[in-house]
Amino acid sequence: MLNAVKELNGYHKHDPEQRNGHANGKSNGKTHTHANGATTHHEAVADDKKAIEAAVRTILAHVGEDPDREGLVGTPDRIARMYGEILAGYTTDPVKLVNNALFDVEYDDPVIVKEIEYFSMCEHHMLPFFGRAHIAYIPSDKVIGLSKIPRIVEMFARRLQVQERMTRQIAEMIDEVLKPQGVAVVVEGSHMCSMMRGVKKEHPRMMTSYMIGKYREDKDLRREFMDQLRK
Ligand SMILES: [Zn+2]
Repeated sequence: MLNAVKELNGYHKHDPEQRNGHANGKSNGKTHTHANGATTHHEAVADDKKAIEAAVRTILAHVGEDPDREGLVGTPDRIARMYGEILAGYTTDPVKLVNNALFDVEYDDPVIVKEIEYFSMCEHHMLPFFGRAHIAYIPSDKVIGLSKIPRIVEMFARRLQVQERMTRQIAEMIDEVLKPQGVAVVVEGSHMCSMMRGVKKEHPRMMTSYMIGKYREDKDLRREFMDQLRK
């Protein structure tokens, strides 16, 4: 397949950006720490699940709850399984994701996909943030199947994120896959960590954008895209 697609391995869970993120934080960036290094993938997943369950039990006990009361016995298991789903972006294979969905087309007007709903988790508080992503690109010679753009958004949303980085990652992946003349990504997000805390009842949405190529250089193109978003 394309070289561009091979490069996408960089977007897998061990991509340098994410690793740096971990290095700056408190984690060592390793997902599995098995002494003998010989565990199977299934064992590693089961170990991770058990560790998450134990951690949730610890939290329950230390916020003043009884982890053994009826309503809570199943909670560590439910949360561990839920993380498998809402943080599935770490294990999504980006090569498989775009494979067979690139088409040669002679078309060089903007392709706009808007109102892509996403749900992510803020890495500072592990609370949801969610909203819509809007994407435009100007093809050079390739376009991508329509259903793949929301899948790309989802791959980056289903991780611990900050909205700014997610916005940039979506734009950069589209840029690498399609080598288009320009990419524009605008993301709106409502953050539960600010909505649930404090007393203010106004909840501003956060807007982030990332522009590449012609969208960075040409303010008329940018304006055209922004006008589209208001319709
Ligand atoms: Zn937060």
